[in-house]
Order: sequence, then structure tokens, then C-alpha cells
Amino acid sequence: MDIKAKSTSSGSLVIVGAGPAGLGAAIEAARAGLRCTLLDESAHLGGRIYRPPPEAFHVVAAPALGRDFQRGERLRHEFSEVADQVEVLSGASVLGIWNSGNSGRELLWTSGHSSAMLRAERLVLATGAYERPVPFPGWTLPGVMTAGGVQTLIKTMQVKPGRRALVAGTGPLLLVVANQLHHAGVEVVAVLEAGKPSWSPRQVPKVWGEWGLLRDAWTYWCGLRHAGIPLLFNHTIFAAHGEGAVETASYGPVDANDWRPLKERATRVEVDLVVAGFGLVPDTALTQSTGCRHEYVHELGGWIPVRDAFMRTTVPGVFAVGDGAGVAGSLVALEQGRVAGITAAEQTGALNAREADRRRAAPLRRLRSLARARRVLDEISRIRPGLSQLASEETLACRCEEVTFSEIRAALAAGAQDLQAVKLFTRLGMGPCQGRNCAASMAMSISQATGRTLEQVGQINPRPPMKQTTLGLLANTTGLAGSVVADPLDAVGGGPS
Ligand SMILES: Cc1cc2nc3c(=O)[nH]c(=O)nc-3n(C[C@H](O)[C@H](O)[C@H](O)COP(=O)(O)OP(=O)(O)OC[C@H]3O[C@@H](n4cnc5c(N)ncnc54)[C@H](O)[C@@H]3O)c2cc1C
Repeated sequence: MDIKAKSTSSGSLVIVGAGPAGLGAAIEAARAGLRCTLLDESAHLGGRIYRPPPEAFHVVAAPALGRDFQRGERLRHEFSEVADQVEVLSGASVLGIWNSGNSGRELLWTSGHSSAMLRAERLVLATGAYERPVPFPGWTLPGVMTAGGVQTLIKTMQVKPGRRALVAGTGPLLLVVANQLHHAGVEVVAVLEAGKPSWSPRQVPKVWGEWGLLRDAWTYWCGLRHAGIPLLFNHTIFAAHGEGAVETASYGPVDANDWRPLKERATRVEVDLVVAGFGLVPDTALTQSTGCRHEYVHELGGWIPVRDAFMRTTVPGVFAVGDGAGVAGSLVALEQGRVAGITAAEQTGALNAREADRRRAAPLRRLRSLARARRVLDEISRIRPGLSQLASEETLACRCEEVTFSEIRAALAAGAQDLQAVKLFTRLGMGPCQGRNCAASMAMSISQATGRTLEQVGQINPRPPMKQTTLGLLANTTGLAGSVVADPLDAVGGGPS
């Protein structure tokens, strides 16, 4: 990619993230005649769920890759019909965003060995979510992996991640991963779901019309039964043990209300792989740096940008869609993206209000239907505070900076009352992951220890660069003429005042 050629281009609509949400926005905006720029740090379109296998892999039996592969192919096909309207910058990470007054905002992005500025009048942020690790003794041992990490190895790279696995956490992703492990030839000892479904006839109307979601869950559940893999509700992983790598794991029941581990009833099994999937946390780094107001919504994964029904944030011209604006799955992400793309086109005058309303009607209807079905799933998988009791004093809370739970407790005893203060006392969240691995779980622990609400415990403020880069790359940023970000090296130190 010739980054110099792109560095001064000014898109009327810039979309960050090419998952279902970003693609949905690009498709609808382009259909309305709006030219847009779509950036994603991945080399491929599709986001976390629809990312295709590397080009070196030849797909011989597409049906064997499952429904997500087919859905991804359909979405990429839909996109290909409008692709001439969209400038795609793949392998491009957005490191920061600054508001630049009336002219919109500026993005600092990097690709390969170069970095550049890009101006945007309107912005759709569709950056998705990341996994929520829950610390337990041994969670940093080799052989303990997140559900998404395991999926990437199996789905994208066709790599078998272990021989004998225990799968623990909460949410439908556990069933998906357990099936994928089984098909990859890994023996799955058990699937431990911390929650428990409480089905009643009253829930049927809530999922009416969204049988596809139920069919997916049912298919995965049947897959486990056929494979003879036990699915234990109100159970979770207690610890992973081993010298240098996982050799055994302990697990057992949790309290049905708050998921407190009942450690005296632990069972130990021999495994070389522990898969932990405790749900997702919205990636709000860019919506935060753009100045959007955020609120805490536990069911949607934590802190999310405040939006209206048309996906407009509190910053004019900035839209937030998909899991990054509240974890709700790929189908919701796609429809939210469509609504944002249509609304952005309406704002530029590419669509009149009547036509925009007409085009928004179907995605908005689908979103209402999906929201009802989601609430049933959320009730099972809403993360509960008792999980904070899994860690021991020596367990690492922040693996980047090697901060233990006992150090966190010392910081609290010394007067720290929220995440930001704990960060300053201990360096928690100051490492390369910028708190993505620890902030959500530690917020829960701090809330438990201090009696403060999760809103009061707050979040760790993201600082550019949002992704890892080198000072040399930043020093050579192109497209700075006329930029409000006078010096990207100053900018990553906090931005112009
Ligand atoms: C690890 C993982 C595994 C999952 N597995 C499943 C599954 O098996 N089944 C299922 O139904 N759902 C799964 N999900 C959930 C599903 O992926 C999401 O619900 C869905 O993809 C949301 O779509 P989205 O467009 O909002 O975000 P995503 O699909 O996550 O897309 C966001 C995109 O933004 C890009 N991005 C983020 N930040 C930047 C930046 N700063 N600069 C440039 N690009 C950026 C990312 O590279 C990514 O491609 C998984 C999620 C994760 C995180």
C-alpha cells in the first residue's frame, strides 16, 4: 500500500473496523452514493467472526467450515457489489483520533513501516470487542488460552491447540469452541458454564422470529451431546496447575446467584489445555478518545458510548456500532452498521429524509427483534461478582506489569478507591495491552472490596497510541501539513492541549 498517496485524502465518511458492523455501514453508505474509506488492522475483511482463512489455504469443502463461514462469504459478496465506492485500507491500525474543530477530526494510522494522518468529516467507529480474562490461580500458565484465541488457532490457522481440554466460562461461545475443539480432534473433558438457563414458556415470545439464533445454540448443544461431552451448569474453573505448562486443572460448582466458587467441592482432572471464555468487553478506546460520552451497562459488557436509535454518539458526526458499542453479537452488529451508514448518507445529503427512513426501517425492525432474543441470553451469561474470589493473593492481576492481587489489596488499603488510582499505585494497566487484559476483572474486584459501584470504580483512560508502534514510525508520519496534531510524538504523549 502506498501510504503517501493516502496520507492527505479526506473522506466524507471514514469507517474504522471491517467486521460485520463496519461492513454494514460501508455497504449502506456506498449504496447511497457516498464515498467512504474503510480501515482495518487485519489484512482481511470480515472482523473477528467472518475473517477468512489465509490465502495460502485452499478451501475445498466450504460447508464443512460452518454457517459463520457462509455468512461471511455472503457479506463479502454484498460488499463487493459496492466496493468501487469504498477505499479499503487493510492492515491499517488507527492509533489515535483528535477533533479538529469545524473540519471534523483527524486519525493517526499506521500500516507496515509507515504512518499517516487522515481527515474525516464523519466517522463510524466499529472496533468490536476483546475478551474478558478472569484471573484464577495458574491463568498465565502456557496451555491456558482464551476461547477466541483457541478459535483463531483452529478456524484461521487449522492448528490443534492441545490434546485434552477443559472449557470454562460463560456464554454461547463456549459451546461453539467445544464443538470446534472436538472436530479438531481434541478430547474435551467437560464444558463448564458458570450460569444456568431458566427456560420457561414465557420466554418463547421473546425469541419469536429469531429461530436462527436458537437453531445455532441447539446445533452446538446437540454436537456436545453426540460427542458425549458433559455440559455442567453453575460450574467453573478454579485453578490450572503445572510446572511450566498446564498439567492438571481443578474445577467445581459456583454459587448459583453470585458465582462464588465453592472451592471445598473441587475436582481435579488431567488436561494440557484450559480454555477460558468469560465473555467480551467493548473496545471503547477510540470512542473515548473522540470525546463521546460513555455509560456503564453491565449486560452489554461494561462501558459503552451513549447513542441514539440511529447510532449517533454524543459527538456530532461520530457513530458507534457493533460490539464496540455494546456486546450483542454479529447479527446486531451488521444491522447497527447499516443504520449508521444510512444515517451518515442522510447527513451528507446523499439521501433525503424520506428515503433514509425507508431504508432504515428493515434494519431497525430486525434490531428490535434481536434485542428481545438477546435479553434471554444475557440473563444466563451476565457476569457475576463472585468470580473475583477465584484469585489467590499470589495470582497475577496484571500480567503485563506483573502486579499481584496482594499488591492490589495493599493499594486499596493505602486509600486507592478506583481503577485509575490503583493504576497509579501499582502500574496495573500500564503495559502493552493498556488494561485490556485486566481492567474489567479488576474493576469487579475493586467494586467487591470497596463496596463501590462499577460506575464509581470507573475505567482506565486509553492513551494514544492505541496499538503498539515505534517512535521511529511516528516521527516519520506523513500528511501533517495543516494538521491540528502538530507532532505525533507530542500527540502520543497526550495530544495538543
Ligand atoms: C475473539 C473473538 C471470537 C469470537 N467468536 C465468535 C463466534 O465463534 N461466534 C459468534 O457468533 N461470535 C463470535 N464472536 C463475537 C463476534 O465476533 C462479534 O459479535 C462480531 O464480530 C461483532 O462485529 P463487529 O463488527 O462489531 O466487531 P468485529 O467483528 O470484532 O470487528 C472489529 C474490527 O475492528 C478492527 N479494529 C479494532 N480496532 C482497530 C483499530 N484501532 N484500527 C484498525 N482496525 C481496528 C478489528 O481488526 C476488527 O476487524 C467473537 C468475538 C471475539 C472478540
